[in-house]
Amino acid sequence: MQEIVQLQREFFNSNISRDISFRKEQLRNLLSLLKSNEAELCEAIHTDFGKSEFETIATELEVVYKDIRKTLKHLHRWAEERRIPTNLLNFPGRSYLRSEPLGVSLIIGAWNYPYQLSLAPAVAAIAAGCTVILKPSELPARTSAIMAKLINTTFDKGFFHVIEGGVEVTTELLKQKFDKIFFTGSTRVGRIVYEAAARQLTPVTLELGGKSPAFVTHDCNLKMTVKRLIWAKFLNAGQTCIAPDYVMVDNGIKQKFLEQCVREIIKRNYSLDDQNYVQIINDANLERLSVLIDKEKVFFGGEIDVDNRSVMPTILTEISFDDAIMKDEIFGPLLPVIGYDDLDKAIQQVRSLPRPLSCYVFSKNEESREKILNEVSFGGGGVNEAVMHITNMDLPFGGVGPSGIGKYHGEAGFREFSNIKGVLSKPTWFELNLKYSPLSKTKLSWIRRFFKF
Ligand code: NAD
Repeated sequence: MQEIVQLQREFFNSNISRDISFRKEQLRNLLSLLKSNEAELCEAIHTDFGKSEFETIATELEVVYKDIRKTLKHLHRWAEERRIPTNLLNFPGRSYLRSEPLGVSLIIGAWNYPYQLSLAPAVAAIAAGCTVILKPSELPARTSAIMAKLINTTFDKGFFHVIEGGVEVTTELLKQKFDKIFFTGSTRVGRIVYEAAARQLTPVTLELGGKSPAFVTHDCNLKMTVKRLIWAKFLNAGQTCIAPDYVMVDNGIKQKFLEQCVREIIKRNYSLDDQNYVQIINDANLERLSVLIDKEKVFFGGEIDVDNRSVMPTILTEISFDDAIMKDEIFGPLLPVIGYDDLDKAIQQVRSLPRPLSCYVFSKNEESREKILNEVSFGGGGVNEAVMHITNMDLPFGGVGPSGIGKYHGEAGFREFSNIKGVLSKPTWFELNLKYSPLSKTKLSWIRRFFKF
């Protein structure tokens, strides 16, 4: 581990990765590596937790390809020196922003979208000119192994390398000195990573989780709202960090909403043995979810196939904020539906929980939409849509406070792995002598005037 960090430091200090053409070449290499091994990548993840080829390509690999293509297209512009205005006191100087790569970076991935959540941060790091040590989640073991095999046989160890392992390996890695740590995972482990980074004053990006609400107002387009919400919730069997965790629905349409949810689930043919319905990642999570299903409150679903590690899409009703299911991120195919009479009170209830990664508003009413978007704090989200904002690489992606620190994708990712130097450059043929002694009241009054411009 130490040896690889050392190799990466030497590589970084050689300045090779500061060259934009080098970075682009590496990104092209990554793109063709993934494309030419797509079948093997799909097979690995299907073996790990039953994710279908369709979902792997649509929700993981294409997201990474898109990020790479966008980066290749715009990297020169992102990395360009940017002129900014200069204040009069510094006449005749000019000011500019220059980006530099932070250095040797550590990326720690989560299991639920193992390719996307490991490789999209790596794209940002490479774009910025950093070297990368990637530690994918150990839970999908085959997925982690194939990333290690492909990347470690393609890239220079000093530039981009995968280290596999679980808690012990990550703990050891966090003792090393990095110039940047990018972590995706739970808020609990996020704290551990943040503390370790603080010891070395290493800048971090934390992509964490939380309970992302969806508001449904009485005037929404009910059919489309339910269609989009049900897809977003049960995608990856609810194991999506930005999945709507629970729904706040106007009591006036609650019953209709619940019935429409059931119609939609039936229409989409979800079933416990469906090859396209993703499994729960492991027995521990299956057990955790089964405890959250309060049988008295099940409106639809609730069935579990223990052997197949599968939970039927489940709608729960008559839920209150005191129920166990409202205490933590659900991260599974259980959807609590909570009715409200007063939108202000509903917003206050949502605000009593830690700030979420996402928030969704389904409403035709401009005033309600504005109110929710303004008054609820969240990382990113959607109006009349859920989850899809992640596919727009121009939208910075990340959380706020307990759901995360920092944003990435596209240019935001490039900046996350860069240090932006602010530089003032002055010629030597002129000097405004006001700052030099002997100091006087006249000089001070001129300085005051100059500060106004
Ligand atoms: P996790 O926190 O259990 O694990 C994430 C990573 O941390 C793994 O690589 C794991 O090996 C490592 N790790 C686990 N315990 C550790 C410890 N004690 N010390 C050091 N490292 C440790 O998270 P997970 O189960 O893989 O993912 C689920 C969580 O991630 C959910 O909360 C979800 O919301 C969140 N998530 C967030 C995003 C995002 O983009 N914000 C994306 C996906 C998942």
